[in-house]
Amino acid sequence: MSSVRKPITPKPPRQREKVLVILQEQCKQCGLCVEFCPKNVLCLDMTKYNRKGYHPVDACDIEACVNCEFCERICPDMAIFLADRDEAREAYEKGALEEGTIIPEFEAEKKEAK
Ligand code: SF4
Ligand code: SF4
Repeated sequence: MSSVRKPITPKPPRQREKVLVILQEQCKQCGLCVEFCPKNVLCLDMTKYNRKGYHPVDACDIEACVNCEFCERICPDMAIFLADRDEAREAYEKGALEEGTIIPEFEAEKKEAK
């Protein structure tokens, strides 16, 4: 029996199938998604107010998102959901998103590229 250990091959980085989209103007700051996200991805942006006067939800650690959809299911205002990556990318790059819509993963990429 050989005592030589097989090299560990690192797995390629996993790409999430979908991207998180937040309609910040629709958020009512109830905090349910923040509380129920199993990966602590979400937080309230206390530096911002939406038109309704609430601090909207944002992603504080988008890299930790596992696409579980808990946030989408629990939000009473349909202000947070997962979207097809390619469709979201197209809309984001065309600037075709409604005002107050954020896609934290793409915004993080943009910041990194600067
Ligand atoms: S999809 Fe799951 S992991 Fe990602 S932000 Fe929503 S609740 Fe958190
Ligand atoms: S559950 Fe919906 S309304 Fe409540 S904080 Fe999250 S995004 Fe905003």
